[in-house]
Amino acid sequence: MRILVYDRGANVVRVFNRRLTDAMPYIKNRYLTVDEFRGSSNTDILWTSREFMENFNKLREKWGSPIPVRYAFKRIWEGGHSGQSQHYAGLAIDMAQGMPKSKRDKLRNLASRMGIFSYVEPASLTPTWVHIDNRFGKAACGAGYPVVRNGSRGNYVMVLQDALLNLGYTSVRNIDGIMGRRTTNALGNYQDNNNLPRTEETNCPTWQSITSRVVGKGVSPTTYLP
Ligand SMILES: [Zn+2]
Repeated sequence: MRILVYDRGANVVRVFNRRLTDAMPYIKNRYLTVDEFRGSSNTDILWTSREFMENFNKLREKWGSPIPVRYAFKRIWEGGHSGQSQHYAGLAIDMAQGMPKSKRDKLRNLASRMGIFSYVEPASLTPTWVHIDNRFGKAACGAGYPVVRNGSRGNYVMVLQDALLNLGYTSVRNIDGIMGRRTTNALGNYQDNNNLPRTEETNCPTWQSITSRVVGKGVSPTTYLP
């Protein structure tokens, strides 16, 4: 399994090779395995951020016992979440499935109180699990993904590359989380082909257009599988 980890502090994407039974990169002990993070996805490449993994360590240590994680990562074309879900960016975890409600509520409150996650979903929205995420950047549409453009790095570039490859823009070549000329040109071509101004940036209408075309579309012949 190939795992891309964006380190925001250093602004670099690091590549790890791990087995499903190994711990995720930057995870202490065996708090979270690759298999748990992969959940119900069938992918053989996945991504996350160093910050998110380190914050999961902190939560797990404060909690003091194992935290079941059933759903975290999904490729955008696999679907299963909303349009600009942080799960496709590798920055969200759904956990505590199967825990007694009182214990799950305690874990949700702890995650909120620690103040290290960008968002802890309230029980009114997801009563039978706990959603946490570490999104970053200012959302282009009020909620969701930020603008990425030539020179950008990180998880939202990975989502964009995955989406463009799935939509047939094979000049992107591979998913590396770095917005270079190939990805920038492919994005511009996507905008040309879809009646969007060629800004070569993922502004709000561009993200909306791309995600509406690709979420849940399933594997296509152009889907990148290393
Ligand atoms: Zn979730």
